[in-house]
Amino acid sequence: MSDCIFCKLAKGEIPTTMVYQNELAAAFADASPLAPVHVLVVPKAHHDNLLDGVDAQTLMAMVECVEQVVQRTGIKDSGFRVLTNVGADAGQTVNHLHWHVLGGKRLSDQLA
Ligand code: 5GP
Ligand code: ZN
Repeated sequence: MSDCIFCKLAKGEIPTTMVYQNELAAAFADASPLAPVHVLVVPKAHHDNLLDGVDAQTLMAMVECVEQVVQRTGIKDSGFRVLTNVGADAGQTVNHLHWHVLGGKRLSDQLA
């Protein structure tokens, strides 16, 4: 996926505000934040979405990123939301798997 922006961001080929990374996944600030903390957690390998053949090791690497993000941004105890959009009805705009980590304020009760 040579033209995928999140592949480039995750591998450091384009500068970004990297919050944390490990061997298999990266966490960087969303360019248009919807909350005081809005970080995207992505695998370094390209997967279109959550159901696009993501292996368990990569998923656990992404979970580790979430844990590091909430610790480093100070929202672990106040609470946070993790969500991923898949496909058109969910409004997925970037076709590289990403988990939104949102927090730092009282989040909306509406999920749909
Ligand atoms: P989606 O709607 O696909 O779930 O979310 C895509 C997210 O990626 C949006 O929140 C959008 O602000 C963010 N985004 C899109 N392009 C870029 C980019 O080039 N850099 C960063 N850091 N975030 C981006
Ligand atoms: Zn990609």
